[in-house]
Amino acid sequence: MLTKLLILLMCLFSFSFNLAAEASGTEITALHWGVSKENVFRVVLDCTGPTDAQAVLNDDSLMVSVEGGLKPYVSKDYKVKSDTVDHVELQATGEKTVLQLPLTRKLADSDYKIFVLKKDPVTKRPDRIVIDIASGNTGFKPVASTGAVIPSILAKPTFEIGGGIKGKMITLDPGHGGTDPGAIGKQGTKEKDITLKIAMKVRDYLLDKGAEVSMTRTNDKDVYGPDATDAQELQARVDAAQANDADLFVSIHCNASTNPNVGGISSYFFPKTDYDKIAAAAIQQDLTKKFGLDDLGVRQANFYVNKRSSMPTVLIETAFISNQKEEKLLRSNWFQNKMAKAIADGIEDYFAATGGDQ
Ligand SMILES: [Zn+2]
Repeated sequence: MLTKLLILLMCLFSFSFNLAAEASGTEITALHWGVSKENVFRVVLDCTGPTDAQAVLNDDSLMVSVEGGLKPYVSKDYKVKSDTVDHVELQATGEKTVLQLPLTRKLADSDYKIFVLKKDPVTKRPDRIVIDIASGNTGFKPVASTGAVIPSILAKPTFEIGGGIKGKMITLDPGHGGTDPGAIGKQGTKEKDITLKIAMKVRDYLLDKGAEVSMTRTNDKDVYGPDATDAQELQARVDAAQANDADLFVSIHCNASTNPNVGGISSYFFPKTDYDKIAAAAIQQDLTKKFGLDDLGVRQANFYVNKRSSMPTVLIETAFISNQKEEKLLRSNWFQNKMAKAIADGIEDYFAATGGDQ
């Protein structure tokens, strides 16, 4: 009995110790903003762990001090559109990060709200700080005042479409990496190596076309870190696209099947914007017209990266690493090159096909 009690106490101690350690190491991984239907301007800071925030309201600014550092890849400046705020800045000061919201009109204390949301294992949303500012015209309406449900209204698209590929920001995500090899072929080919090689070539082609490119990884590593959960790892990739204000996010994979005869190319989208499907179709078209492989089509799926990013996102399943013929192709430099060029051409076609700015 006593031993049991001791063990219980030890568990409790180590548990509270872990919590403290986690809280002090919290970092901000992304900033999202949007305007709800009720015209509430919202800023959401995604964090790696428990956090807290304090606000100071001045005549010309709202300053929010957040407990936690700032991941180096997060942009520090955001142009936003609201009747109260036109840009948002983040300033990292070691253990804390200050969010500066210069105001274009004077606010009352009742015009803004700040709340802390805990990580939600069901929706896989991370710990978050949410700042809401009411519109000058309407003020706050009594909707969803608990702060428990809200963050899904927003995500006003900040991506650009149309007008050609020049100057567009494209984030490329070579699937898997580091401790996660992805699928492995009969000859021992690892998906993570092929996706990286193809993605690096896509980057070169895109840069040649005048696009800007950011990568979730450029070497063999986990993006979040070793031994992360799938959700953490995938969210880190989404965060990279968000942090770079990507206009298009492309995740590159190799397919696998238990049936070694199955082969072909497919492009996946989730219809969260009007452009996800258009982008997938443009890429799939270039990929299939230039190869003799089966066209498995443009497919809708609930993949994490497609769903959780705010910009149009395409996940490409290049070919089947589980099919011996296609594994051989995936390993060859000329095939990787040809595939990379087709992906870059498809992206170019997408920006040519969609018209005007959002
Ligand atoms: Zn994969």
